[in-house]
Amino acid sequence: MSKSTISIQLPDGSIREVPSGTTPLEIANSISPRLAAASVVARVTPLAAVAAGGAAEGAAKKAASAEAGSGEAAPAEAAMYAAEDKGAPRLVDLATALNEDVKLELVTERDPEALKVVRHSAAHVLATAVLELFPETKLGHGPATDAGFFYDFYREKPFTPEDLAAIEKKMAEVVARDEKFVREYEPREEALKEFERDGDFMKTHFVSRFTEPGSQVSFYRNGKFVDFCRGPHVPSTGRVKAVKVMSLSGAYWLGNEKNPQLQRVYGTAFFSKKDLDEYLERLEDARRRDHRRLGKELELFTVNEDVGSGLPLWLPKGATIRRLLEEYILDLERKDGYEHVYTPDLAKVDLYVRSGHWAHYKDSMFPPMDLENEQMVLRPMNCPHHILIYESKPRSYRDLPVRLAELGTMYRYELSGALSGLSRVRCMTLNDAHIFCTPEQIKEEFSKVMRLVERAYKDLGITQYSYRLSLRDPANKEKYVDNDAMWELGEQVLRDAMDGLGLKYKEARGEAAFYGPKVDIQLADVMGHEETYSTIQVDFHLPSQFGLEYTGADGNKHRPVMIHRGVISTMERMMSYLIELYAGAFPLWLAPVQMGLVPISERHAEYAARVEAELRAAGFRVETDLRNEKMNAKIRDFANRKVPYILVFGDKEQEASAVSVRTRGKGDQGSMALSEFLLKARAVAETKSMEL
Ligand SMILES: [Zn+2]
Ligand SMILES: [Zn+2]
Repeated sequence: MSKSTISIQLPDGSIREVPSGTTPLEIANSISPRLAAASVVARVTPLAAVAAGGAAEGAAKKAASAEAGSGEAAPAEAAMYAAEDKGAPRLVDLATALNEDVKLELVTERDPEALKVVRHSAAHVLATAVLELFPETKLGHGPATDAGFFYDFYREKPFTPEDLAAIEKKMAEVVARDEKFVREYEPREEALKEFERDGDFMKTHFVSRFTEPGSQVSFYRNGKFVDFCRGPHVPSTGRVKAVKVMSLSGAYWLGNEKNPQLQRVYGTAFFSKKDLDEYLERLEDARRRDHRRLGKELELFTVNEDVGSGLPLWLPKGATIRRLLEEYILDLERKDGYEHVYTPDLAKVDLYVRSGHWAHYKDSMFPPMDLENEQMVLRPMNCPHHILIYESKPRSYRDLPVRLAELGTMYRYELSGALSGLSRVRCMTLNDAHIFCTPEQIKEEFSKVMRLVERAYKDLGITQYSYRLSLRDPANKEKYVDNDAMWELGEQVLRDAMDGLGLKYKEARGEAAFYGPKVDIQLADVMGHEETYSTIQVDFHLPSQFGLEYTGADGNKHRPVMIHRGVISTMERMMSYLIELYAGAFPLWLAPVQMGLVPISERHAEYAARVEAELRAAGFRVETDLRNEKMNAKIRDFANRKVPYILVFGDKEQEASAVSVRTRGKGDQGSMALSEFLLKARAVAETKSMEL
């Protein structure tokens, strides 16, 4: 029962009556040709659903998050081909004939969703080019990802780097031909027959798995190229303005090694050449800063398969930095009224049953070990041990707050595929603390922790961070303790504390700890990926789980509140962040070797020993290069290792008790008296200056 006219509601609320079959492009043109040219796709929401309220919005968000979660990996097939929710806002081609009353929004390049459409269209351009150059290739699928897009191909011969270059060139031709993307339909059974006939085993799989028998299957055509696809797409290939083939990797069809090996070609696309160039530059910067590469080059840590993945070994230089960080934070904590404790890395399973970890966190724990008559397990968090220290003696309100801190080592079972350098590991040491306080003390303790975080970030030169209020997902009873009143109270306390400090934050559902909400401090890497480094949590659950008490001024028993906090994260994660932040060039106070000594010839060895002894006595970490090498080679070696100061000396310097100073990033500073250099270096180190 198609209507002859339909109502189109525009974002400003105005309604247009147009003939059924009108396209978003026609509507855009009637508003302004400029808008039409700038539009990529259209977002439509059936007016019936708008009137019905928020249910549709929820469904749309769910669909969007299913896709967003896919990241670089192949999106779950189900997400890519998932049935559309009829009432939800959906993106459609500009050329789609509209035949129901809808709310219509023209999506321009300003909308992040538009970039995904461009990227998926770029994947079609890639497949077009591949089939033109290598017609024997069979097609898998080619979704947009957070970083661009990929397309899976099957071809007996692997693509070579030359092939990829030829493909990129051919893609430019496809773009220049400006072929229209046209949506077509075919009866499912016919489509399947054709795919089977042509040996298109992957398309056969996708169509038979993700479409209903008897239905019409949707295809997109550009020029001679046709692909099974739901769209939407940009109007024509010419709208894919900046595209690049990035890399190639192998993957088994459906992840099964008995299946044929596919070649996954990765690419990326942007709205403009400028955006693309900026992205490539950022990528290069990220590669230059990659902590896994620098960790190896600078001999900071190593991963040995005989130990196991995710279990890094800290080499002397990396361990030096880590120890300095540990001493730094322990000292700050002592000054802030923390008491440090040591507790074991494992405990009986029963302890975690009592704390709730066993019920809510078991999947992240290593399996238990059977020992004599008990089961022990590596701890995934340090909280229960600290709780037992709190309850090791009676507490009075006068003792509170009790601040127990530890560089606590813990173990988390991460899937091997998720492990990476120092940033994702299975054994980690957290700069952890638990504050046991009265409800009245929460606010003050919270702001004390915030000040501590700010202080540490300032000293470490961390300037880019944001706050996130991490809340539970009330629907997920498995992951979160089921106690609405407690969650609401915790949320309220954190909001009040943040608002009281005037700190801006965004909220994230489903990111809370299992026992309570938290404020996370998020740091972004060069590519803009955010991770939690510092966290502060208000917990009413564990104190009641363990029946914690203190005697109040009234002589009665009261229950303390627990604040969990980590200031500089785990040593592993903070180290990975700092390596990338500094690009391996550590500030003087953290540099594993602060000064490299370069005697010009053998006869300066004695003076070198004197200089080294003097600097060491002043507390500096020094290395002398006594090899029988040219001076310039020695200087270059220290420079490659990003040593802050290189001190060169020959006869002249020896005579004057001087050194010739080369400062990292500043070059040759000329000769100065050793005593003068020492004063300068001491000032730089003591102020934790980022500048040398
Ligand atoms: Zn497609
Ligand atoms: Zn804790």
